[in-house]
Amino acid sequence: MDVAADLLLGASCPGCGVPGWGICTSCRTSLSAAAPFEVVRSIASFPAVSSAMVYEGPVRRLIAAHKERHARGATPALAGLLAAAVSHRRSDGALTIVPVPSTRRAVRERGYDSVRLIADAAARTLCREGRSVEVVPALRHVRRPADQSSLDTTARWANLHGALAGERVDGPVVVVDDVCTTGATLLEACRALHAAGVETCEAATVSATVLRRSRP
Ligand SMILES: [Zn+2]
Repeated sequence: MDVAADLLLGASCPGCGVPGWGICTSCRTSLSAAAPFEVVRSIASFPAVSSAMVYEGPVRRLIAAHKERHARGATPALAGLLAAAVSHRRSDGALTIVPVPSTRRAVRERGYDSVRLIADAAARTLCREGRSVEVVPALRHVRRPADQSSLDTTARWANLHGALAGERVDGPVVVVDDVCTTGATLLEACRALHAAGVETCEAATVSATVLRRSRP
């Protein structure tokens, strides 16, 4: 939690808004019900993606609070979910985690890179569990895409294509992000890493939207 903001605005749970310090018991209970699942998207070349929770309820609000409202106290909870998703994707052996990068502008405005914070904490969790996991920021923006919010899936893919450049990193790579909606960002991230010579590239996210028919 951003202490200065709390003192100014009054402390509340970043997952549901009830007054108090940090994530409330009810939201923690909701997060503890996470059951990682395979994310399915009908786009050609879509990578293998695992996610910890459906993007709704407390986890959705926690991600928004972490990204937009400086709720950095939510980092451990979100990192725990991301670590579970990474393990669901790749349950043993060494791996390299590559975070989807925030734009320089977003980092400047927020003062931190939300996904990087979650990725670093998730890697520490996995290392404590005995895994050999390293975070390598091997992706960077090379072109600023237009605002994605009003675009459909096909338009998002076209908008994002070529937006990222990757560096070659060793070992199996798991790209991580906070949320997977259309999947266009993960597709572009894996395309950029493949283009840089990475052979095995999968992905994991804290949460993902799902079609009603294919809910886990
Ligand atoms: Zn709550």
